[in-house]
Amino acid sequence: MSPIRLAIAGFGKIARDQHLPAIAATDSIELVAVASRNAAPDGMPRFETLAELLAHGPQIDAVALCTPPQVRREQAATALAAGKHVLLEKPPGATVSEIAPLAAAAQRNGKTLFAAWHSRFAPAVEPARELLSGREIRSVRVEWKEDVRVWHPGQDWIFEPGGLGVFDPGINALSILTHILPRPFFLREATLAFPANRGTPVAASLAFSDAGGSPILADFDFLQAGPQTWDIAVETDIGPLTLSAGGARLAQDGRLLATEGKREYDGIYARFADLIARGVSDVDVAPLAHVADAFMLGRRTVAAPFDW
Ligand code: NAP
Repeated sequence: MSPIRLAIAGFGKIARDQHLPAIAATDSIELVAVASRNAAPDGMPRFETLAELLAHGPQIDAVALCTPPQVRREQAATALAAGKHVLLEKPPGATVSEIAPLAAAAQRNGKTLFAAWHSRFAPAVEPARELLSGREIRSVRVEWKEDVRVWHPGQDWIFEPGGLGVFDPGINALSILTHILPRPFFLREATLAFPANRGTPVAASLAFSDAGGSPILADFDFLQAGPQTWDIAVETDIGPLTLSAGGARLAQDGRLLATEGKREYDGIYARFADLIARGVSDVDVAPLAHVADAFMLGRRTVAAPFDW
């Protein structure tokens, strides 16, 4: 079978660091064009906008949207209307409600819409889900703390409305939790700290509960100096379980069970190709709904102004 001809829209950090190598490692997908105002890989046809690429570019079957969430809905709608399969980077949109019409358009046109949650493809996440299946969850503690200046240098869109602020990384923890915990959970209270000069929070403290009353506490921080922390600790009826390094390592009672394996984005592109082959979509907004709940229920505090 000939490979799926793919275009990338938005050639920024994630497109370069992760999408390019993962596409190169996926036999069934071939990158044929890029929509970018600034750059493209050497020798690759580049178009200023996705609309221009669709009108004047080489034939494509699918688009990977690596732009910020605030501009993605319109690009996704354009690509689906043009009869292309669409991969949405996380978070799938700037609002929860904009996703359903996209999913409906994909279904109407017989195309695949894939809301990719890269952290769910971290090597220890699936083993954690299997281990927790049917278990009693007594409590969960999440610490997702990183330095925005190191990981997102100069990305002002993160601090604009719709950019999610500290929830840009924090939603990765929520994408793991909503995948591995056996019972749904919901927010009970939250505190969000907004820098005085920015539109999104730089820190968040969240208290969820599952239907059985087990507490799920999460601390997100975007100004973490020193060691960076992307850890989830779960107390269960079979002892403590730790998923650390963003889902790369799983330990039970301190004993390592699973560790580094396949790269997350290799898993994403294998899944995208498989969804296209089966003619189905995969669109889960649960992590985004939790973030929306935090903005709805969270108490706001004012933090020091943030500058790069
Ligand atoms: P980025 O480095 O700022 O890149 C985004 C790219 O989108 C820009 O380089 C720009 O590309 C394009 N863009 C920016 N503003 C635009 C606008 N108003 N209209 C059209 N295009 C615009 O950001 P990123 O880190 O790659 O993140 C992009 C998405 O991937 C985000 O949703 C983020 O959550 C997700 N993600 C990021 C990471 C990470 O570690 N950085 C990890 C996983 C997922 P051109 O200059 O090419 O036009």
